[in-house]
Amino acid sequence: MVMRKVVVGTAIACAAAVCATAALVVRHRMKSRGKWARALAILKEFEEKCETPIGKLRQVADAMTVEMHAGLASEGGSKLKMLISYVDNLPTGDEKGHFYALDLGGTNFRVIRVHLGGKDKGVTNPDVEEVSIPHHLMVGSSHELFDFIAETLAKFIHSEPEELHPPPGRQRELGFTFSFPVRQTSIASGTLIKWTKGFNIEDAVGEDVVEELNKSLEKVGLDMRVSALVNDTIGTLAGGRYYNQDVVAAVILGTGTNAAYVERAQAIPKWHGLLPKSGEMVINMEWGNFRSLHLPLTEYDQSLDADSLNPGEQIFEKLISGMYLGDIARRVLLRIAEEAEFFGDTVPPKLKIPFILRTPDMSAMHHDTSSDLKVVANKLRDILEISNTSLKMRKIVVGVCDIVATRGARLAAAGIFGILKKIGRDTVRVVEKEKSVVALDGALFEHYIEFRTSLEGALKELLGEDAAKSNVIEQANDGSGIGAAMLAASHSQYL
Ligand code: ADP
Ligand code: MG
Repeated sequence: MVMRKVVVGTAIACAAAVCATAALVVRHRMKSRGKWARALAILKEFEEKCETPIGKLRQVADAMTVEMHAGLASEGGSKLKMLISYVDNLPTGDEKGHFYALDLGGTNFRVIRVHLGGKDKGVTNPDVEEVSIPHHLMVGSSHELFDFIAETLAKFIHSEPEELHPPPGRQRELGFTFSFPVRQTSIASGTLIKWTKGFNIEDAVGEDVVEELNKSLEKVGLDMRVSALVNDTIGTLAGGRYYNQDVVAAVILGTGTNAAYVERAQAIPKWHGLLPKSGEMVINMEWGNFRSLHLPLTEYDQSLDADSLNPGEQIFEKLISGMYLGDIARRVLLRIAEEAEFFGDTVPPKLKIPFILRTPDMSAMHHDTSSDLKVVANKLRDILEISNTSLKMRKIVVGVCDIVATRGARLAAAGIFGILKKIGRDTVRVVEKEKSVVALDGALFEHYIEFRTSLEGALKELLGEDAAKSNVIEQANDGSGIGAAMLAASHSQYL
């Protein structure tokens, strides 16, 4: 009996164990189904909040136009600074001679020389020297940085062959692309408002950067004249215009974003100077600082902004530029990991590190065409230390990238459409057969094909088929440096 009892007991225990295991499996399935549903729900909600239907894009474009008007009306009249660049003479392509440019705006600095040969000969013999700026000079004193620049330029010039020496009494002329916020005081002078991008040289803030450069040029005995001080966006506009007189605006989509365009001088109420001969003035919009209630901001954007070095500023830039897109995607994935245990019971620690997912990696995942999304799997493993992802999970990751990039690209298109509207170039121009070309530069636009395709598609949608034929965007090929040399030519003292 005792034996039997034991057997029966064991049988009962076994049956109970089987039931418990089955229950566990069911619960696990339900839980994982629940997790999956939660992940999809978060994704869906994000997608809805990021939507940019054509009506919304029109509202954004209109808001951009309104802010442009306000920024042109008075200093501080808008979030858009609409800075007067003093560039009123864009290159025509007829310029002739040797001109130089310095391009400072990041970790590298370039010295450029080009020979401009007029319409038939174009640009020949561009000579570029690129040096990286030692870190201690980025945070040292003003004269150390400018001495370094002048010395590099001096070496470049001293190695020039005899035939490049200017005739006696003629100075070499230089365009200076300085891509930091500057309050321009003339075409060739401007004071530094603040450093960005890792530079921090306190004694240069508030100083005229051309004067600082001139002091250093004098020290090394170089007789050169800065004919134009510009930023990369204006350099790109000038470079674009040199080759194509239909270029009316330039947009940079790289680490950050900005736009510049050609305005009628008479349409700038805050301009009290003489009316330029050309009747035109290039405006540096500083459009990264645009914001509007029509922008589709999500909680992820709000937290990114709050955690940033410049909360409340550069809101447009934080939605569309290369510095931020990857981190928006990371924030969404983090939330899915936290709330839906998407990557397992614990949240992968790397996913919590700001900016660990860079935009080029996001773009690589987004462009993954392999059937098993191998690139996505590898990026998740190598960057975020998340392994064993299923194909279904990888598809969600691609979905997040797609939402973030599409929103950014379409908003950038709305901004461009806003500019075209402001200058009356948003409609079909049959009579004049005029074309409007926007020059685009920056690695985000150049390399993130999905982003670029969405941008072009949205702009076509906004313009309509007919107007899209006469309003086009073109990739500018590194105009920022060479464009400055062209501006040195078009603003030459010998004209
Ligand atoms: P900058 O704006 O600093 O002058 P770039 O125009 O080279 O420089 O832009 C660099 C930025 O472009 C990077 O910060 C990155 O966000 C973005 N980027 C570079 N390569 C890619 C890529 N393959 N896909 C997507 N974005 C990229
Ligand atoms: Mg650049």
